[in-house]
Amino acid sequence: MHLKTLSESLIARFAEIVGETNALTRAEDQGAYLHEWRDRYTGSTPVVLRPGSTDEVSRILTLAHAEDIAVVPQGGNTGLVGGQIPSRDGSEIVLSLERLKAVRNVDAIGGTMIVEAGVTLTEAQNAAKNAGRLFPLSLASEGSAQIGGVLATNAGGTAVLAYGNARSLALGLEAVLADGRIWHGLRRLKKDNTGYDLRDLLIGSEGTLGIITAASLKLFPMPAERETAIVAFDTPDAAMKLFRRAESEAGSSLTAFELWAHRAQEFALKYMPNVRDPFTDDYPWYALIELSHGGKGTRIANTIEPLLTSAHGQGFIRDATIARSLRQAEDFWRLREAFSEAQKGAGGSIKHDISVPIARIPEFLQRAAKVVDGVCPGARPVPFGHFGDGNLHYNVTQPEHMEKAQYLALWDAMSDAIFELVTELGGSISAEHGIGQMKRDVLKRYKSEVELDMMRAIKKALDPKGILNPGKLL
Ligand code: FAD
Repeated sequence: MHLKTLSESLIARFAEIVGETNALTRAEDQGAYLHEWRDRYTGSTPVVLRPGSTDEVSRILTLAHAEDIAVVPQGGNTGLVGGQIPSRDGSEIVLSLERLKAVRNVDAIGGTMIVEAGVTLTEAQNAAKNAGRLFPLSLASEGSAQIGGVLATNAGGTAVLAYGNARSLALGLEAVLADGRIWHGLRRLKKDNTGYDLRDLLIGSEGTLGIITAASLKLFPMPAERETAIVAFDTPDAAMKLFRRAESEAGSSLTAFELWAHRAQEFALKYMPNVRDPFTDDYPWYALIELSHGGKGTRIANTIEPLLTSAHGQGFIRDATIARSLRQAEDFWRLREAFSEAQKGAGGSIKHDISVPIARIPEFLQRAAKVVDGVCPGARPVPFGHFGDGNLHYNVTQPEHMEKAQYLALWDAMSDAIFELVTELGGSISAEHGIGQMKRDVLKRYKSEVELDMMRAIKKALDPKGILNPGKLL
């Protein structure tokens, strides 16, 4: 399908829908929508539209569909695979959902809330908290990432172990289809076997099948108490042993198990403000463990200390520090959340968001280090991630005395080699960040023809003109 470029008169018709102040055409107003966090993707657009209601989104899509104009939905612009950035040729409209800000309903008794797409993750968490409930999804980008974006990417984060990813937290959606029709699917049911699951089809579709305008989300009881610790290990095998031990002793109270290599911590301490070293000595590997306990009235829990004492006695953990206050627990999390950004300080970084079956993480880490060395001797792996979900951010920082551009030119060679290993181990080339434009061509190599055909058929059925986020995912 050949999509058109926008004439001045057509831009004016789009602007009329949202009002002039919400149709940004000047370069100085558009900057924040055209560059992404990692400076890897930059686009161009004749206009950024900021609709203020689902009806306005619908009118924009009706016009775009009639005129064959491509539309790129954008939430908080924190996506890491370039899915929210328009092409460079200036032919695509950016549709920002940031003004869809209403928390339409919080039902503490029913355990659900309905929020619009532009509500940030932090705002959604706070809306739940104000009603005495927990919305557990949590990412380092939660201050900016928006509900529409987290559902469109099926985001994961640090609470997946206990509560699941964005998909598991959504009960229903409201979305605008490519032709402008509104799908009113804000159900609040746990059980609803009435045919194809359209909600799950849109979740994780990265803006290519429809534009999410609101969602009904699951809420949970607020934990009465949390126990948080950082543990030091010699090897990932030892971390695996503790993970299984924690799982069997703490059961569903185990809500986080995040692993990182010493280098991740070293970079965070060197390049990020307000982070503290939890230990006086250095160790090769660390994990942040969190247990969350019961509702109100539960007796003060004390599971983590005996767990770590016995693990230490048996010699498979080197050291451990338990948070003695909320502030200390926050310090631990601040350290964990600093790892992505800290790598910027150490030069170029080639990033992989991969998953493998959890039992194979130690093998992956051992073999991946050799793979990296084969592609670029001296490159420095900085693995960290959601160990309990089998998901690692296997990022690799440039060798100390190498030109950044020369190093980044090795991106494809490095990724291909890592993805080969991931595939051999039965893993995924994108655990939680999605495909976007970054992995679109790579996807073709790792999905079967049958899977790709099914995906193309769905895209064609829901967006026959291909106006929704073209060039992304497929
Ligand atoms: P955007 O970046 O604006 O968009 C992402 C994609 O969704 C694009 O394809 C866009 O077209 C589409 N989209 C956006 N809004 C809509 C909508 N309303 N309807 C349809 N399509 C839409 N991700 C994780 O999963 N786990 C992590 O732990 C994690 N940590 C991160 C830490 C940092 C520091 C950063 C910068 C990012 C991290 N991310 C993580 C990635 C990112 O935050 C998530 O992908 C997030 O879900 C994106 O939300 P957003 O609102 O910023 O979406």
